[in-house]
Amino acid sequence: MSKILFISQDEEKTKKYSQIFKKPYEFFTSSDENTALEIGESCMPDVIITDNSIKFAKSVIKKLKSILPSSAYILLTSKSELEPDIIKNVNAFLTDEMSDNLILSTVHVNLKTKNSLEQLSGANKDLADSLYRLNVLYSTSSQFAGSLDKQKLVDYMIEGMDKALSFDLTCTLAFCTEAEPVLILNSLYEISEELLSAIKLRTVLNYKSLFENKTPPFEIDAENLKVIKNVKYPANRFTFTLFRYDNMFAPISLGDNFFGCIEIFKEIPFSSDDATYFQTIAQQVSLPLKSASLYQEIKETNQKLEKLERLKSEFISIVSHELRTPLTAIKNSLDILTGGKCGELNDAGEKFLLMAKRNVQRLSGIINDLLDLSKIEAGKMDYHFANMNIHSVIDYVKTSLSGLAKEKGLNLIAEETENLPEICADSQRLEQVLTNLVSNAIKFTPEGKTITIRSHIANANQLNPNDCFKDDLKNLSGDYIVVCVEDEGIGIAQKDLTRAFDKFAQIENSLSRKVGGSGLGLPIAKQLLQAHSGAIWCDSEPDKGSRFYFAIPVAHSYELLH
Ligand code: ADP
Repeated sequence: MSKILFISQDEEKTKKYSQIFKKPYEFFTSSDENTALEIGESCMPDVIITDNSIKFAKSVIKKLKSILPSSAYILLTSKSELEPDIIKNVNAFLTDEMSDNLILSTVHVNLKTKNSLEQLSGANKDLADSLYRLNVLYSTSSQFAGSLDKQKLVDYMIEGMDKALSFDLTCTLAFCTEAEPVLILNSLYEISEELLSAIKLRTVLNYKSLFENKTPPFEIDAENLKVIKNVKYPANRFTFTLFRYDNMFAPISLGDNFFGCIEIFKEIPFSSDDATYFQTIAQQVSLPLKSASLYQEIKETNQKLEKLERLKSEFISIVSHELRTPLTAIKNSLDILTGGKCGELNDAGEKFLLMAKRNVQRLSGIINDLLDLSKIEAGKMDYHFANMNIHSVIDYVKTSLSGLAKEKGLNLIAEETENLPEICADSQRLEQVLTNLVSNAIKFTPEGKTITIRSHIANANQLNPNDCFKDDLKNLSGDYIVVCVEDEGIGIAQKDLTRAFDKFAQIENSLSRKVGGSGLGLPIAKQLLQAHSGAIWCDSEPDKGSRFYFAIPVAHSYELLH
């Protein structure tokens, strides 16, 4: 029902207006300022009609406006000249000459305007509230996205809830570390020991209720539950009436992953919007919590793997060292015996001693490979880089292995390109790489065939490796000296090409068992070349032969690369 206050000292007018504004209007009249203000305060009229002929017209309108800013103010006046001060404070005018209907319609229009304005301001407030919440939701989600720390994620969730719901108490049961659940209490006021025991019990019951007949993922005992308390105003205390406050409860979980649960209390009842907001945040935090768990697991697995890798390297290094000393002693003794220093040997004795010597050499080769690999992997390999020419490496390897090749009836040749630019490399390590490639070629090539060492200069974009090695070469740029060892041996099947570079790989073939080896030569070569900013790859055809290539940047490219 619309309420109208009519302020006038003219009885005639008061009578006329009370006739016009009969039911359904609620009509109030006043002839003095104080009564007008009292009615204004207690009845909050929607429309206030003030007779301009009273002395206090201007002041009563002003005072009423400060109490009732959204009411409609109408001035009843017969004057055509009005003070500007009064004009700006009223919404409409009535005159004595107006018909009843005109008066009614003027008041109607103003009533309608007033109601519409009120509705609009209500809608504006709702809109502002929603915007604020959206903003909080957005900033909370951004915080979620930026963290993989479970404790921080839970803190962000509570912070987001506080900003948007301004609760009195939040009880969050969080499983940030599997070993120990924590009850985080964010409270407006201090909580006594008795109340705390009750809250703990309630939280544990809430938690258990989530799993009905199933066993909860963690056993929790209310008495020993660890509590973290954040109190805003410790001077005040909550009493047990807290449990009469409105409350909301939600689990924090994703699928089978359970991270905790949250209950919030507020003296003023929560709205349905509050409930939606609460559930949204509790759900939103679950995904980052899951990511954080996975991240934690990966981190722990990585740490374990790193530790295992370290232990393995240490083990290899210790064992190799321990083997080397007695092996050297055996080798020396064999040298003495085969050198005839302990007397003449018969044919059989010499044969067996030479066999023992060959095996000691093979064993020390394997031990040296193991030591090299553990040094490279531990980053302890020393390199002595210097400008040099690849020919010296090729010459050295050819000379040192030509005897072995000849023994096997193989033809070892080096086709060198003249005037190749210098490379910046550790010559000993390159000799090691090339020795391994040529030894393999000797091992896997049948009698009567040829092994060729070639070298040339090429730009990175001219290198055309087999598809399976494209990734290994993708970072090369500039000019490289490329060395190729080509044999006419048993070859390697396409599927085994990359496997040949794996540690301890020995590809099953007719010769692998017979010739033996550590399976470390190629992985060592690969790492040594990586240390030179180079690469190694191969191409092969079973029964036709293999081509092993390696590339080292020419000195000026090497400088550019470092
Ligand atoms: P190993 O000491 O056993 O030769 P490598 O790492 O040098 O170890 O080689 C790994 C495997 O790659 C060899 O066991 C062999 O099966 C294969 N391989 C290497 N070079 C050749 C080659 N020239 N021809 C055929 N197979 C080869």
